[in-house]
Amino acid sequence: MVKIKNYINGEFQNALSGQTLESINPATGEVFATLPDSDVNDLNQAVEAAQKAQPSWGKQSAEFRAGFLAKMSLLILENLDALAEAETTDNGKPLWLSQSVDIPRAAANFKFFADCISQFSSESHAMPGNAINYTLRQPLGVVGCISPWNLPLYLFTWKIAPALAAGNCVIAKPSEVTPYSSFLLSEICQQAGLPDGVLNIIHGSGKNIGQSLVEHPNVKAISFTGGTVTGQQIAALAAPMFKKLSLEMGGKNATLVFADCDFERTVSEVTRAAFANQGQICLCGSRILVEESIYTPFKNALLEKVKQLNVGDPLQQNSKQGAIVSEPHLNKIEQAVLLAKKDGGIILCGGHKIHLKERYQNGYFFEPTLIENLDENSTTNQAEIFGPVATLIPFKDEQDALAKANATDYGLAFSIWSQNISRCHRLAESLEAGIIWVNCWMLRDLRTPFGGVKNSGVGREGGFEALKFFTEPKNVCVQYGE
Ligand code: NAP
Repeated sequence: MVKIKNYINGEFQNALSGQTLESINPATGEVFATLPDSDVNDLNQAVEAAQKAQPSWGKQSAEFRAGFLAKMSLLILENLDALAEAETTDNGKPLWLSQSVDIPRAAANFKFFADCISQFSSESHAMPGNAINYTLRQPLGVVGCISPWNLPLYLFTWKIAPALAAGNCVIAKPSEVTPYSSFLLSEICQQAGLPDGVLNIIHGSGKNIGQSLVEHPNVKAISFTGGTVTGQQIAALAAPMFKKLSLEMGGKNATLVFADCDFERTVSEVTRAAFANQGQICLCGSRILVEESIYTPFKNALLEKVKQLNVGDPLQQNSKQGAIVSEPHLNKIEQAVLLAKKDGGIILCGGHKIHLKERYQNGYFFEPTLIENLDENSTTNQAEIFGPVATLIPFKDEQDALAKANATDYGLAFSIWSQNISRCHRLAESLEAGIIWVNCWMLRDLRTPFGGVKNSGVGREGGFEALKFFTEPKNVCVQYGE
C-alpha cells in the first residue's frame, strides 16, 4: 500500500487529524494507496511556511528561480518510468500515453517556464520631455493551484511552474482521485533542493481542503482547472475577497468536418480528438458535425476506426483505451448514454460497460460510443459527458455548421476540417471558442494563450499570459520635466 503524504515546508507529513482517504486503481477497482484527508489546520501550516519563504523567493533573480525549475524538469525525465506508472495506476490511462504525453509534458512545463521567465519583460510609457512610466511586475505572494484528475501531473505542473517562475510561493492541491504523481513530484522538489515552503502540496477532498484554500485570506490568487460547477462555486467564494482568479473549465467541443476535407486523415484525427484518454480531455471533440453530402461515408469510415480502439489492460502497449477514472464517473457516463437512447439517439457502436477478465474484472471500462439522431439542443449535445462518447450531427452548409457549433454554453476548443482555407479563416473568426484548430487537433505551442470563453473559462494560461496572471502590474510614474 502506497502511503501518500502532504509536502509542507519541505517535509512529508500526514494530515494533522490523522484522517486518510483511499486511492483506487481504476483498472482493477482495488485500493492501492492512502492519502491525507487534510483540513484547514494542515492548510494553515502550509500557508505559514509559504509566507515565510515568499519574500526571499520573490526577490531572487529570475535565473535563480529558473535554475530550480530546469532541475525539476530534468528530474521528471530521469524518473519518467516511475511517474508514468504512477499516473496509469491512479488514472487508468494507457501506460504508453503516460510515457509519451503526460510525463514528458510535465517536464516540458517546468523547462518552458524556466526559459519563459528569462524573456518576460514589462512595459514603459514615455511622456516625452516630461515623465516616464514604467511597469513593475511583482509576484502576488502565496497563491493556490487546484487541478483535476484527467491529466494529473500535466495540468498540475502547468499551473505550478509559471507561479513559481514569477516568484510566488504555492499551495497546490491535486485531485483526490489522482494524488500519486503529485506525491512523487514532492519527492522531486526535495531532490532538486527547492527551498522549504516554496511549493507545498496538500492532499484531500475538494469540498474540504480545496474550499479552505479558496477561502484562506492569505492566499492571493486561485488558478483552477476542473468542472464548470466547481468553477462557479470557487468564483462565488473568491469574488467578494477580490482574489485574482483563473478558471479553466468544461467543454463541449465541436469538430466541423466539411466535404472538402482530407478524408482519410480527417477520419483518423477526428477519432483521436473524440476518444483520446477515453474522451477525458477538456479539449476532446465530442460533437462531430459533418457536412450532409459526406455524412454517410464519413460515418461509416469513422465507425470502422472507432471499432479498432480496443479497450484493455492499461499496461499493455496494444491497448488503445484504458480505464475510466472512477466508478462514479463510469456510472455517470453510462447514465448519459441511457439518456441519449431515451431521447431518440441511435447508438452506432459501444454504449456499454466492459467487464475484462482476471485482474481487471472489477475495473471501470466503457466501450467507445458513437451516437447519431439527436438534436443539437438535446441534453446529450449540451452537457459535458467527459468520457468515450461522441455524437454525429449533419449540417447543410457553412452557416448551418457555424450555428450548430456555437449552440452551446461552452466555448473551449473547436476544430475545422476543410481544404478551403478562406472558409477556415472565416469560421475561425466567428466560432465562439478560445482555441480553434484547423486541420489538426491538440497541436500545442506552450507560448500561445490557452483557455475558453462562455462557461469554459475566465482568463488564459500559457506563455506570458500565465506569467501576467501570476504577477501584479504596478505603474511607476517619474516626472523629470516641468
Ligand atoms: P472538479 O470536480 O471540478 O475538480 C477539480 C479540482 O477541484 C479537484 O482538485 C477537486 O478536488 C477540486 N474541488 C472540488 N470541489 C471544490 C471546491 N468546492 N473548492 C475548491 N476545489 C474543489 O473536476 P474534475 O472532475 O476533477 O475534472 C473534470 C473537469 O475538468 C471537466 O469538466 C473538464 O472539462 C475540466 N477540465 C478543464 C480543463 C481546461 O483546461 N479547461 C482541463 C482539464 C479538465 P477533488 O478531486 O478532491 O474533489
